[in-house]
Amino acid sequence: MDMDSEECRVYLVRRPDQREWLAKANAGDEVARLCVWAASNLMRAISQGRLVRCTCCETSFNSAVVPQAFIVLLPIKRDAEKVGAHAMGVCAECCKKDDQWLLDQGLKRETLSPNSPQSHDKIH
Ligand SMILES: [Zn+2]
Repeated sequence: MDMDSEECRVYLVRRPDQREWLAKANAGDEVARLCVWAASNLMRAISQGRLVRCTCCETSFNSAVVPQAFIVLLPIKRDAEKVGAHAMGVCAECCKKDDQWLLDQGLKRETLSPNSPQSHDKIH
């Protein structure tokens, strides 16, 4: 499940599908590899005690409350690896919503974030 936005592609990785994503990543699928990498980065940040909130509500994650899905933003650029994939967590409650709703929330949150890097060299 994916959709296009202006500057990045958004993917939804649900926990039950995680093995599938891992298998794809191991088979050399670049998108799957970046998604899995971004998700594991987020999990590490949570385990290190960093404050990470659900993308869709105010639930904060910790070792007992882990994301049940990841929204991964991949920049549309050749050197996507350098720019970096960015994963956001979704809590169990918000996971009950459908894919489209979650992806919309992820994009909205990303657009509103003051810390998100602004791309000045848009692809025309
Ligand atoms: Zn939530």
